[in-house]
Amino acid sequence: MTLLVDGRSLWLAETNCYVVAPERGGPCVIVDAPDDLEGIADLLARNDLYPEALLVTHAHIDHAGGAGGVVDKWSISAYLHPDDEWLAADPAAQLRSLFGGTLPGWLESGFEPPASWSALDHGQQLRLAGLDIAIIHTPGHTPGHCCFHLDQDGILFSGDQLFAGSIGRTDLPGGNYGDLMQSMRERVLPLAGETRVLPGHGPATTIAQELRTNPFLADPNLTDR
Ligand SMILES: [Zn+2]
Ligand SMILES: [Zn+2]
Repeated sequence: MTLLVDGRSLWLAETNCYVVAPERGGPCVIVDAPDDLEGIADLLARNDLYPEALLVTHAHIDHAGGAGGVVDKWSISAYLHPDDEWLAADPAAQLRSLFGGTLPGWLESGFEPPASWSALDHGQQLRLAGLDIAIIHTPGHTPGHCCFHLDQDGILFSGDQLFAGSIGRTDLPGGNYGDLMQSMRERVLPLAGETRVLPGHGPATTIAQELRTNPFLADPNLTDR
């Protein structure tokens, strides 16, 4: 099976929104929902896909700000780890901390979270749009951050846990560097080296590539390899 994966960066923070599907012309899963419904609709249309579910890596507004709109527009479920629901519940507070107190007028409205979330759990195996997706809870960037692993296809949606050449910041509310590194050591770096890593920002990479070159992973205690 050749998997269809496509993505584009959307919204102010240039957050990657991905669609993943067994093939063109059928159901897909959306990974992360920046607040740009037109951009997401375009990503679906250019691959001739319709969404069956939305998976949200974590509740930062650049990844979850469009979730309510996606749920309304396509009548699908949105999945989030419960440890991030407090963040999702107050998008305006996140914006104020990003923009320093007063919001630009055009940003003040919108960002209604979905009425309810479907809960993600570590070790859970979801079967969505004909895909088997393993949920890996990776706290650190936020308490409820999750990565999504398509084992058979060797793909990891890494959100803001791991980037090409960098790692997620841990200075935002709920962030914890020790937790992020523990998640990295125990749950991310042990994946197969050739695993294709599709991050929440920036270009794709692989686990092996990051182990070789990512300066934030240089600590020999991080891996037994
Ligand atoms: Zn984030
Ligand atoms: Zn982000």
